[in-house]
Amino acid sequence: MSLIKSISGIRGTIGGKVNENLTPLDVVKFTSAFGTWLQNNKNKKDLTLVVGRDARISGSMVNSLVTATLQGLGIHVVDLGLSTTPTVEVMVPELSADGGIILTASHNPKQWNALKLLNENGEFINGENGAEVLALAESEDFNYAVVDDLGKYETRDDAFDIHIQKILDLPMVDAEAIKSKKFKVVVDAVNSTGGIAIPRLLEELGCEVVKLYCEPNGHFPHNPEPLKEHLGEICELVKKENADLGIVVDPDVDRLALVDENGELFGEEYTLVAVADYLLKNKKGAAISNLSSSRALRDVARNLDSEYFASAVGEVNVVTLMKEKNAVIGGEGNGGIIYPDLHYGRDSLVGVALFLTHLAKENKSVSELRATYPSYFMGKKKIELTPDIDVDALLTKMEKEYLNEEISTVDGVKIDFEKNWVHLRKSNTEPIIRIYTEAFSQEEADQLGDQMIEKIKSLV
Ligand code: MG
Repeated sequence: MSLIKSISGIRGTIGGKVNENLTPLDVVKFTSAFGTWLQNNKNKKDLTLVVGRDARISGSMVNSLVTATLQGLGIHVVDLGLSTTPTVEVMVPELSADGGIILTASHNPKQWNALKLLNENGEFINGENGAEVLALAESEDFNYAVVDDLGKYETRDDAFDIHIQKILDLPMVDAEAIKSKKFKVVVDAVNSTGGIAIPRLLEELGCEVVKLYCEPNGHFPHNPEPLKEHLGEICELVKKENADLGIVVDPDVDRLALVDENGELFGEEYTLVAVADYLLKNKKGAAISNLSSSRALRDVARNLDSEYFASAVGEVNVVTLMKEKNAVIGGEGNGGIIYPDLHYGRDSLVGVALFLTHLAKENKSVSELRATYPSYFMGKKKIELTPDIDVDALLTKMEKEYLNEEISTVDGVKIDFEKNWVHLRKSNTEPIIRIYTEAFSQEEADQLGDQMIEKIKSLV
């Protein structure tokens, strides 16, 4: 059981004791804090907030608490009901709302839920604002509305239509090219809201859809993080159905993983690589991902006379750097596509539309397309230290060991060697350094991680 309060929101398990889990009292307190913070910030009480949720079992209960609390503050609520993270992000500016709350614990299992907080642009609030919301939650300095000033409540059921229409209207999405291919696509949406949104988008694009776990009932049939070890069933079904492609999304539909026609994973890292390849072929500019994402994106960008920049890990950091560099495309290696012409948030729907346009125009199968990209393999290790060790000082020592290499200290220490890289990040909660590596083979990636562990040990 746990409750994690951070500058990016509040996340916890349902049930148990207050302040140790995401209980109704914690939901009310944190919602009150965000609503109050927005009211203070905007210097007015009668704001409008958009609320939407993924399909997890606790969603309806949490939704009741959140929407009623906002009304209690005098805030008007537009409730989208079952929705996706990108759909809520699109709807906030669409409705000229003052912010939004998405109720989802993303890829976490069913016992979890969380509140994701959006500003008036439909973008995640930044760390500084998140810290202010946390402080307000701590102080409980709330002032609820009197009876005549309670917030109004309305529902909308056209958000998916609006979101999908905006995608179809994008000049870089070629619906006719996709339709001409009559793709057959298997969709695994872990019985969350991607099961509504993704098939609807695919049908608009003339695809034949085979649904696997598309009932939005919140009963996740497998661990909802779109990792290889959880995706055996869709890989089998793509083969059995002779489909062109498999699509996997996480419960709030901001991570997109693909399966090729042979039932092999395209690789979550390569969703962004393929979409960037398509966009940068049409418009030179910058591509952005985080420091732990695949180097394949850098390679693809350079081949197309475009620039590549890496941000600290975290969607807010990627978005900040994308704005600074006026990026054409960005995202995270975990299948998060951020296409700024639509909005600054990870969006699997726009990812699907752009990927299918690319696939149709390249006139290749998914496996043939994948073979056009450099193949990298990632390794993940960690070293456990004792609490008396100064981890920051240790990372600084590591940095000094590799001064002749390309180094970034934007987020931990990233060392780019000619043929591979390593990214060292300290945990904020435990005396641990996480070690991410990437190389041309799995063996090499794992060996590089082991070498780093030896090196760190020698410096302790
Ligand atoms: Mg997610």
